[in-house]
Amino acid sequence: MGYSGFKVIKEGLFGQKGWKPVWRNPDPKPEYDVIIIGGGGHGLSTAYYLAKEHGITNVAVLEKGYLGGGNVGRNTTIVRANYMLPGNSEFYSHSLKLWEGMEQDLNYNTMMSQRGVMMLCHSDGQRDYFARRGNSMVNQGDDAELLTPEQVRAEAPMIDFDNVRFPIYGGLMHRRGGTARHDAVAWGYARGADQRGVDLIQNCEVTGIDVEGGVVRGVQTNRGAIRAKKVAIVVAGRSSQVAQMAGMRLPIESHVLQAFVSEGLKPIMPGVISFGMGHFYISQSDKGGLVFGGDLDFYASYAARGNLPMKEHVMDAAMTLMPSIGKARVLRSWGGIMDMSPDGSPIIDKTQTEGLFLNCGWCYGGFKAVPGSGFSYAHLIAKGEHHAPAARYRLDRFRTGAGLMDEEGTGSQHNLH
Ligand SMILES: Cc1cc2nc3c(=O)[nH]c(=O)nc-3n(C[C@H](O)[C@H](O)[C@H](O)COP(=O)(O)OP(=O)(O)OC[C@H]3O[C@@H](n4cnc5c(N)ncnc54)[C@H](O)[C@@H]3O)c2cc1C
Repeated sequence: MGYSGFKVIKEGLFGQKGWKPVWRNPDPKPEYDVIIIGGGGHGLSTAYYLAKEHGITNVAVLEKGYLGGGNVGRNTTIVRANYMLPGNSEFYSHSLKLWEGMEQDLNYNTMMSQRGVMMLCHSDGQRDYFARRGNSMVNQGDDAELLTPEQVRAEAPMIDFDNVRFPIYGGLMHRRGGTARHDAVAWGYARGADQRGVDLIQNCEVTGIDVEGGVVRGVQTNRGAIRAKKVAIVVAGRSSQVAQMAGMRLPIESHVLQAFVSEGLKPIMPGVISFGMGHFYISQSDKGGLVFGGDLDFYASYAARGNLPMKEHVMDAAMTLMPSIGKARVLRSWGGIMDMSPDGSPIIDKTQTEGLFLNCGWCYGGFKAVPGSGFSYAHLIAKGEHHAPAARYRLDRFRTGAGLMDEEGTGSQHNLH
């Protein structure tokens, strides 16, 4: 079923009776060309691009819960391509271009809103770093503007400009960044993949990966064994556990990241703002809720909920940047399990098992990567070659040390990302 303004008006006039389920609910077949483990944003976009770009449609996405119930539906929806260092910058540039054409491509309203992402600086040194980062971004074809304090004030009058401890020295504005509706992104890719013949199988947990003589043969699930020529792991916070089913030990730690949303308020936030003196970022949803978050809880866990000390830490930063937020009531908070890599950058690679592929390590920034990751992973699975923008996301960099990369130059130490 195609969506259009005409269709919305027609359904409104005739009692909304013509809408159909957006995807089928098939039983698993005995065998597929490709099995994708994980029905999050990355798994669904991989299935979509396998079908659309490579004509590979005998594909199943196996999801242990429901589609979009993982981190793709738990994040703070920020989309950006403001990286400085090679390795990541070309990947996120490509991903942002896919975001910009996503709604037309999927014929689905993902509420992509390029309202801008503004990072604040609070010292001369930080402003110099932002100037350098902004120049790198512009040189690689992304957009960046260095803002004066007056320009920041014009953009965001609600933040505290009189804070003597953390004065505002300016900001780095990335206008093509912004937010999108996270569930809609999962649903849009699911619908596009299903329309092309991909089987989306929910409540189907992979419990084992069958390998014979170094070649993958299929998977074991709670709904029986399913054979496959290729198996692609893309399970975010559960990456270490699923890779272990094929005898792999990954350089990934799973940590909790929390987020918060306030009651609905009138529009006060122009776009996304991130505080430069603590890990805190905030935007406002279309319903009016202030959506914000901060650091990881900083201990490994598979519990999709966080602890009180980090809540206090995030509220501290919120009150420092924007004291008026103290009048707003927090409606909800939640947590998601993040697949943290040692250098803060992801992995999209083959494994030592023939036909078995790995996509993980998105840390707390994998929502903006959903289209780019799916596109590059599908390319690797279909052609057996790395897609150029993701060519440096190799697993062996953690063994050799060559090619480690990250957003801030902090190197390969888990607790710095
Ligand atoms: C609070 C929070 C805020 C965030 N904010 C941002 C942000 O603003 N911007 C940004 O870019 N990123 C953000 N992220 C990160 C982003 O959400 C993740 O990096 C990204 O969603 C991970 O990829 P995914 O969507 O494929 O993961 P998921 O949606 O978690 O998908 C993985 C799926 O695999 C399934 N699975 C696991 N094990 C199995 C199994 N054995 N068998 C079958 N299925 C299995 C899971 O059920 C899950 O549905 C945030 C994350 C959190 C938690």
